[in-house]
Formats: sequence, structure tokens, C-alpha cells
Amino acid sequence: MDRYAVIGNPVAHSKSPAIHAAFAAQTGQTLAYEALLAPLDGFAATVTAFRTAGGRGCNVTVPFKLEAFALAERRSPRAQAAGAVNTLKFDADGIYGDNTDGAGLVRDLTYNLDCPLAGRGILLLGAGGAARGVMLPLLAAAPARLTLANRTVARAEALVAEFAAGAGNTPLAAGSFADLAGSQFDVVINATAASLADEAPPLPPGLYAPGALAYDMMYGRGDTAFLAAARRDGAAHLADGLGMLVEQAAESFLLWRGVRPETAPVLAELRRQIEGR
Ligand code: NDP
Repeated sequence: MDRYAVIGNPVAHSKSPAIHAAFAAQTGQTLAYEALLAPLDGFAATVTAFRTAGGRGCNVTVPFKLEAFALAERRSPRAQAAGAVNTLKFDADGIYGDNTDGAGLVRDLTYNLDCPLAGRGILLLGAGGAARGVMLPLLAAAPARLTLANRTVARAEALVAEFAAGAGNTPLAAGSFADLAGSQFDVVINATAASLADEAPPLPPGLYAPGALAYDMMYGRGDTAFLAAARRDGAAHLADGLGMLVEQAAESFLLWRGVRPETAPVLAELRRQIEGR
């Protein structure tokens, strides 16, 4: 049986085995998918052992996405742009690295949340790995403008400088949270790690245009401090990152198996389990 895995540390909490089992059942594919805990100094050894034992590919999660990038012998353009890899595929040509996080976000916004990005004003909060990983797919969706705001302004400026050449006609801007005062956006995406500490980035009021969506990449915690603040500030729509998780998994499944699973029933079941409904 073809074997796949998610490799991380910690990894026991991962929803990926359940998601991929559901994709396999739905598409009639026979495969096994497990969660593998790698020692913090043993990512490459864990990948090698899994591959030697017949593994065909793996997802990579915290804190190994940069090591996975280094381990890949060939990479997709979106992995190259992200500087990080969340999907490895093993074949006769060696180790191929991809990054499906950004495509997962764009698909979640576009299809699950009915929020097309073309011509919209987007604000991306954060300049860490998650923000970097979604830059290229967000720009490819042709927004009217893309603004980055981060606690450490220099990191947002560096990211904007890096992606400026590939931005096409989309104006790119970087600044602090305070710099956002007086601006409005159609889509505000929280890619900071603030929600992990039950905090929200200190945003000025009035950021949400009529009908705007507030999106937190964090999932599984109900209303985060960011989403609660967005509701108070008049955001018309709120969403967490569970759809992004399921969509990035579907992109990985497509890369490995050549078939795109239906995500809607899997997302609905996962949400039912997480929220106890
Ligand atoms: P990083 O550690 O690489 O980056 C953290 C970012 O958050 C930095 O921009 C940092 O700012 C900012 N930050 C941290 N704490 C605060 C705070 N209290 N207030 C304001 N800004 C803060 O983390 P990642 O980019 O890897 O992850 C970010 C989030 O995205 C996590 O919550 C993660 O769970 C989520 N994620 C979700 C995915 C999904 O599938 N739904 C996929 C990937 C990530 P500074 O530069 O100033 O330090």
C-alpha cells in the first residue's frame, strides 16, 4: 500500500491523517497516511527512514518547513517563492518539494467563502513564514492592492521588496499596524502568530470596507482575539483557517495522486468534530 505521512514536532494533534483518510475513501484510492514525530534534530533522518521504508510523500509541519525546503532536490515555483516546503514527493527523480499553503488559502477564500480576490484590496498581517508562503498565490489572484503590516516593520518591508518584481500591476505596500489608520480593505488576513497567545495585532479602527471579510489563519480556537476585534470593528464576514488547512491538504493529495478530492464534505465533517456539533 502507498504510504504517506505528516512529519512534525509536535504532531499528535495533526488533523492531516483524518483529512487524507477521508480524501482516499472519497476518491477510491488505497493508501495509508500516518503522523510521524521527528526529533527536533532529526527531520532529515526521519524523512530518509520513511522513504526507505516505502513512503511516497509527506506533509511537513512546524518546525520543519525550512529544513524540508533545504532537503528538496527540486522545488515548485511557489515553494521557491515561499522559501519553505510543506509537501514532499518521492519518486525516481528524487525529492520534490512543493508549498500548498498559499494555494490552499486562495482556494478557501475563493470557493468555500465565495470571496474572489481579483480587484479587491487585501491587507496581510504578519511577515513570518505563513505570510511569506501566501504572497505569490495572493498576487497571482490579481488583487487591486496588497498591503503588508507587521509588528517589526523591517520584516514587512523586506518581504514587499522581495516580491515587488513579481507583483505585476498590483501595488504593494508595507508598514506598521499604526500606519493603517485611515485605510480600508475588502479582505484582512491575520497571518501573525498572535492568536496562539490569545492576542490580536493592535489595529486602528475603521479598517473594514463594507462587506469585508476578516480571516484568521489560526483554527480550532473558535473566535480568536483577532476575529472578535474584527466583529467589533464592523467586519461583515469572519472565517478561521480550517478551510485553508483542508484545501492545502487537497493540493498535496492532487500532487501525489493526480486527483483533486472534494473538500466541502471533509471540511464540514472536520468542523463538526472540532466544534462538537
Ligand atoms: P512565524 O513565527 O514565522 O511568524 C510570526 C509572525 O507573527 C511574525 O510576523 C510576528 O511579528 C507576528 N507576531 C507574533 N506574535 C505577535 C503578536 N503578539 N502581535 C502581533 N504580531 C505578532 O509564524 P508563522 O508565520 O509560521 O505562523 C503564523 C500563524 O499562521 C500561526 O498562527 C499558524 O498557526 C498559522 N498557520 C495556519 C495555516 C493553516 O493551514 N490554516 C498554515 C500555516 C500557518 P514579528 O515579525 O514582529 O515578530
